Amino acid sequence: MNGKTMAFLGQVFRDFYYKNAERISAPIRMNEREFGYMSFNKVMVRHLSFQKEGELRVFLIKEAPHSVYYSCAYYHEPTLAMEEKGWKGADLIFDIDADAIPTDCKEEHNNWVCKDCSLMGKGKRLEKCPKCGGMRIDEENWVCPLCLEATKSEAIKLIDFLLEDFGIQKKSIKVYFSGSRGYHVTVEESSFEGLDQMARNELSDYVSGVGLSLESLGFSKGVSYESMYGLLPLTKDPGWRGRIARFFSEMEFEDYDSTGKDNRDKILYIYGKKGYKGFVDLVNMIVKKLSAKIDVMVTTDIHRIFRLFNTLHGSTGMIKKECDDLIPFDPLTDAVVLGEEPIQVFVNHSPKFTLKRNLFGPYKSEKVTLPLMVAVYLMGKGAARLVDYE
Ligand SMILES: [Zn+2]
Ligand SMILES: [Zn+2]
Repeated sequence: MNGKTMAFLGQVFRDFYYKNAERISAPIRMNEREFGYMSFNKVMVRHLSFQKEGELRVFLIKEAPHSVYYSCAYYHEPTLAMEEKGWKGADLIFDIDADAIPTDCKEEHNNWVCKDCSLMGKGKRLEKCPKCGGMRIDEENWVCPLCLEATKSEAIKLIDFLLEDFGIQKKSIKVYFSGSRGYHVTVEESSFEGLDQMARNELSDYVSGVGLSLESLGFSKGVSYESMYGLLPLTKDPGWRGRIARFFSEMEFEDYDSTGKDNRDKILYIYGKKGYKGFVDLVNMIVKKLSAKIDVMVTTDIHRIFRLFNTLHGSTGMIKKECDDLIPFDPLTDAVVLGEEPIQVFVNHSPKFTLKRNLFGPYKSEKVTLPLMVAVYLMGKGAARLVDYE
């Protein structure tokens, strides 16, 4: 990003914070949290603390940073070095990122660029450049309504685990669109606050379906159907057993007629038809389908800082927005907050993309006049720069 583009984005962000100061709200127990920010020239500053909402607002207008973060953790002394802060506890946070969820649309809108010879191609990043053999390959990931919808479905599955399996109250769960490519699900003021890294790892594994054994579902190799029957999961069972039983119960299988039978008969029927190996594969597929694709590293990091809600994301110009109602939430419209005044930019490269229900692009090495929200989106992603008017 060149200096002029950076200065322009800083000014746009400053204007936004100035005009929307009352939109900036403090997280609960603000004075126990660490704050940090990244400037547009990518300098990271951490170990800050704010006592009052007003201070935070003034800071945002003054600094107009690329990104603002706050800790999931509560500390005795948030401004001290990490080992001296005095960790008191942390919100339980889950991160779901569009990049981690396989969708076909990525072949259309993602591309890679070789840093050595500038060769460019569509889809997933290659190991090695096919032209020069270079290994320094950049990935350019974009999002579209399809992959963001798939990401949302993962968030919906996760929330069901939190409510049904962990017994967390709905009012403690907050869901946010990150302002770029995913969702953050935050649990505040719960009995999970004091959990250490290991315990959070267990929770992550649980919702990811990691380590779920066939034995825990009642299956053992070489055991008779009669002795297995009583151990099989029922649809009303809690946790994973119930989830798997309900999947089997709703699943269509060849011409199986379930009239008058319970789901255990059906499971055994399918088990008989598929054989042990085929059945294991089927259960693994079901677990993959029912689990929530979270980023485990994020949940287990009890010192991590997260983007502050209602602040702008420097790579998109969208805000991190709380989703009061997740189902109808449309991130590429609802998180767009910048204006539509025309701005002339030079776009290096962009696929077709959607913003506020309008289609833009594709662009390739061309000057375009775009609404501010779109120009900032492209400049933030590093795909465009401000055109010099002189
Ligand atoms: Zn190359
Ligand atoms: Zn997509």
